[in-house]
Order: sequence, then structure tokens, then C-alpha cells
Amino acid sequence: SVRVRFAPSNTGFLHMGNARTALFNYLYARHNDGTFILRIEDTDLERSEERYTDAILEAMEWMGMEADEGPFFQTKRMDYYKEKVDDLLEKGLAYKCFATKEELEERRQEALESGGDLSSYSRIWRDCDPSEHPEDQPYVVRFKSPLEGELTIDDLVQGEVTVSATELDDFIILRSDGSPTYNFTVVCDDVAMEITHVIRGDDHLNNAFRQLPVYEALGAEPPTFGHVPLVAGLSKRKGSTSVPEYRAQGYLREAVNNYLARLGWSHGDQELFSMDELIEFFDFDHVGKSASQFDVKKFQWVNSEWMKRLEPAELAERWKPFLEEAGLEVNDKVADVAAEMRERAKTLVEMTEKSSYFFTDDIERDEGAVDKWLKGKYADAFDDLVDELEGLDEWTSDNIDTVYRSMCDKHDMGLKHFAQPTRVCLTGNTSSPGVFTTVYLVGRERAIARLKDGLA
Ligand code: GLU
Repeated sequence: SVRVRFAPSNTGFLHMGNARTALFNYLYARHNDGTFILRIEDTDLERSEERYTDAILEAMEWMGMEADEGPFFQTKRMDYYKEKVDDLLEKGLAYKCFATKEELEERRQEALESGGDLSSYSRIWRDCDPSEHPEDQPYVVRFKSPLEGELTIDDLVQGEVTVSATELDDFIILRSDGSPTYNFTVVCDDVAMEITHVIRGDDHLNNAFRQLPVYEALGAEPPTFGHVPLVAGLSKRKGSTSVPEYRAQGYLREAVNNYLARLGWSHGDQELFSMDELIEFFDFDHVGKSASQFDVKKFQWVNSEWMKRLEPAELAERWKPFLEEAGLEVNDKVADVAAEMRERAKTLVEMTEKSSYFFTDDIERDEGAVDKWLKGKYADAFDDLVDELEGLDEWTSDNIDTVYRSMCDKHDMGLKHFAQPTRVCLTGNTSSPGVFTTVYLVGRERAIARLKDGLA
């Protein structure tokens, strides 16, 4: 059965590109009733930080990608890697190399100049008998890469890719300080965790060829690889790059998953997918080979669509933290306000900005709008309207509607002469949802007080 893993390094927040890698793994696992494993590659002691581990776990949980096994941590598996290094040394599949940096650099330079085989510079100690090894000298352990022939990967995304063995050097698997290297630990873990499909960014395709012979050396079948093209257009300079950043900007998890899945994968011309649909439809036949472009405009569109698809009560639950963050007081009309205002906003943050007048009296009135709509000859009629509203038995949208219409008849005025001043009083300017709805949603006390205040 399918066993896949997501193996982020904990050297930063969950990047959108990595989140997509995680998602593809997750979808592939769920689609195939397989197992989704999480492994934190935390061996870079200088750059790894626990807070990043926590943030990655939190982001994944938020996105709804629950791991079936893990998280495993590579730093807790050091003994295992060393055991494997010893195994390979014993079997003659790896060897100790005592060459100094200078020596290696010299050899490399020579090879470069003579146009010779670049990979062979690393092989100084490859054929040396261990009995002739110097004592008490620092060494690294190198893997014996194949010297000839070709290596082929039948990649789920890239198709068949072949390189010549002459392109592989004898890469280091254990550093002189005793720490194992990435290309080695990855294979050890993928073997131990019985990974069947390695799905990751195509920046790892070169590594895959170095790793391939290591599987064999460890006595395992290589997995199937799927190297997914990177996402272009995600740079700090251009804006946000990580999942928590977009979350903080008010993107819904549904939109993040939907948009990330569509970055590089398609299913006919469908654009909107629930997680269940993604799981049902995801396959590698429709993952493209070329890099996809991150497009904020489209992401916003997907998010606005998801804001409209959620039940208002659910949307309100997601929205509340944003209101609180903005210092606004949540009340019992939040879901109704959300149902109105989601038509006018692409993110929860934008919806918060545009909705503040429903949740605070601290509004700023636009001077021009005040002059135009509150100072004219209709002031008396407007006064009358406020009286009627104040006298309402029940504060419902229908009753409010009735008051406005009767005022239009009584004063022989068009609705806009009541509606626009109302908006200016309640919201500060003249754009808002339908006026009856707005009056209703601002709430009785607040609305009356603000109408009077506007008239004063
Ligand atoms: N830790 C690696 C990275 O974050 C992933 C390695 C892999 O998936 O094989 O790029």
C-alpha cells in the first residue's frame, strides 16, 4: 500500500511551495487509502529551531493535513544512521577518506583544466585497503557511487530521466564531525519508514540520482519518485511566502488547499474543489512538468469564492478572531453581517476593515458626504424618519423597510434622500449593503444614536 512522507526542514515557517508538496503527498495518500508520514529534518543544527517545528505542525493542522505517523525527528535517529554507515563500511560499499580540503580542491581544479572526469576527484581513497589507513587523522565517509553505466528514474511527473554514472561523485555520507549528511539520512529514513513514493520539489531531482544507488546498498528497492516543479513568483520581495502569513491575512484553509492544489495540477476546467473532491480527483497524470506561477489575484478569487461557500455561522466562527484582533466587539449579528459583507471582501481582513461600523461607534464620517447628504433641505424629513425608527415595536429588517417606504410617501421623496443620509450617519460614507439591512445589522441602539448624532 502507498506510504508517503512530507519531510520539511525546520528552518523556517511553512512556505507555500512546501505546503503544496505536503498537500500533494497528503492527497496521494488519502486518494490511495495510504499512509501519510511526517518527518522533521532537523539535522541542520545551526538553522533548525523548535519554534519552526511548532509553526509547521500548526500550519499543517490548520490546513487539515493530519499525519498518520510521526512527526519523526532526524536528530533522534542519529544512532541508526551511524549503524548504517558502519554497515556500508563493513560491506565495502562506503569508505573512509582522509583527503584534506586543499588536496580535493587541487584535484578538482586539475580535472577542470584537463577537461577530465569531474566525479573522480573525490575518489582518492576509494580503493585503499583499510589496513593502510592512517591513524588518528580526521576522515569523512564517502559512498561508493557506481563508476559506469546509466541511472534511470521513471518519475511520476518528469517522466523517464537518465544520467550517466560519470556525473556522480563519491559523496560524503558522514562528515568528519561524525554527523551524517542529508542525502544519506533521507535514504535511511525512507527505507526504514518503508516509503513507496517520494513526492517532493524538483530541486531534489539531482539528489535523487545520488540517492538511488544508496537504496540498493541498503538492500532496499528504490521508491517511485515524483518531482514536482517549483512554484514561481513566491518571494519575500513580492510579498508573503508562508502559510501563516496568508492565514493572518484572512485566507481560509479551504482556499489555501484549493489554490495550492491547482498550482500545478488540474482536473478538467474545474477551479473550485473541497478537500474531499481533491482527495477524490488527485492524480499525477495531471500534474504539469513546468513551473507554475503564483498568482495572488487568482488566490484572492478562490478565497472570496470559499467565503461565499461556507455557512454564515461557520464563516463567523472563522472571522471572530480577526474582529477581536482589530479591537472590535463581537455581537450576535456577526453571522448575518458576514453573510452580507462577504460579497464585498476577498479576505477576512478586508471584510473586517469594511465592516468595522457594525461593531464600533468609532466611525469617521467623510466630510464631503456629510455636506452633501446631511446638510440639505431634507433634514426635517430625516428627523421624522429617525422618530419613526425609534418608535418601532420590533427591530426587524421588514419593519425598517416599511418605515422608509412610508416616509417616502409621506414626504413625497425618493428613497435615496433617506438612504444616503442614513448610510453617512451609520457608516461614515455612502457605500454599504442595502440600507434596511445595514440599519438592521448595526442594531437598534447603535443605529438610533448614530442617526441622531449625524443630524446634530
Ligand atoms: N528536507 C528536505 C527539504 O525540506 C526534503 C527532502 C525530501 O523530501 O527528500 O527540502
